[in-house]
Amino acid sequence: MSSPLDRRPGPSPHPPPSPDVAPRREARWVNPHGALPRVRWAVQLAYLAFLLLVAWQFVRFHAAVLGDAPVTVARPPAVEAFLPIAALVAAKRFFLTGYWDAVHPAGLTIFLAALATAFVARKAFCSWICPVGTISRALEWVGRRTIWRRRWPAVPRWLDLPLAGVKYLLLGFFLWTVVVAMPLEAIDGFLRAPFNLAADAKMLAFFAHPSAAVVAVLGGLVAISLVVKHAWCRYLCPYGALLGLASLLSPVSVRRDPDACNDCRACTRACPSEIPVHARLRVLSTECTGCMSCVAACTARDCLGVTRRGTRAWTPWVVPAAALGVMLGFWAIARATGFWEAAIPAEAYRFAYRLLGIG
Ligand code: SF4
Ligand code: SF4
Ligand code: SF4
Repeated sequence: MSSPLDRRPGPSPHPPPSPDVAPRREARWVNPHGALPRVRWAVQLAYLAFLLLVAWQFVRFHAAVLGDAPVTVARPPAVEAFLPIAALVAAKRFFLTGYWDAVHPAGLTIFLAALATAFVARKAFCSWICPVGTISRALEWVGRRTIWRRRWPAVPRWLDLPLAGVKYLLLGFFLWTVVVAMPLEAIDGFLRAPFNLAADAKMLAFFAHPSAAVVAVLGGLVAISLVVKHAWCRYLCPYGALLGLASLLSPVSVRRDPDACNDCRACTRACPSEIPVHARLRVLSTECTGCMSCVAACTARDCLGVTRRGTRAWTPWVVPAAALGVMLGFWAIARATGFWEAAIPAEAYRFAYRLLGIG
């Protein structure tokens, strides 16, 4: 099939300009969505900075609980964003009983909000909010500038597909263990256990005092992410796999107009998931993170955009706006209705920490 680049212009229907009239040049087209990556980085870094503040506040709370004095430091509810397994267990109980988890209510809110973003805006949670995604893309940026100075070598398709399946296997394991095999009594026992109450403190200890094996695994993941684009998110994260499956119901997707396309492939090179955008009419892949890097990189006017089936193209800004709006909406409703902060006395945390030998 010939590309538009193959078409050669025929004889001009217009007469040559008079030598007295200066030739008019058409202004070079500037992609109106070129600012998308910069705005995305700003949003991602702002959220990362917010979570670092949350972590710092939690470290102070944790230290206060480990002491003997009355605890005057507030526990930041957003720390529960780091407890996706507890959130999955709590979500199952919520759907079975209508009971909102009282131990990690913010964790359940964030988990359901992330799922909701996938239903409306593909995996935009991954590309605009998740701090691990931010670090992964930062490593991609470093790898391109230090190792692959010109261009990332694409992972061959025969390897990419089975590797991408690993995260679905991990997701299948968690879904089977929690959603299918875990009875309601076991769920109640899990959610009320001291281990669950102190899960965030356990997580802190995991990163604050890493074992040699943890350092080796994290170092290996960083090294792989420098040479394989977006490796953790593309191949290993079960959370991303779940959001990818939910995104199949999303009404929006990137669409390409083949008549406007010049086959430059800048879109495919910009894609963190190495989706061949230049060869698709619509990007309906579970790997699409809604980052809009492809749209921002497109070199042809009105070629790449965001659309809902059967509608005209929308501005690509609708994807981050919808994702951020859903996240903020869930947070605001949960706060206003008392489903955000756990009403658990500091003494209960102190009891759990001491019981589990934390600190
Ligand atoms: S794939 Fe996982 S780690 Fe990566 S951005 Fe998405 S949720 Fe975060
Ligand atoms: S297809 Fe476009 S929006 Fe989707 S992940 Fe690739 S670059 Fe991002
Ligand atoms: S960047 Fe735009 S013009 Fe170039 S191949 Fe992709 S869709 Fe076509």
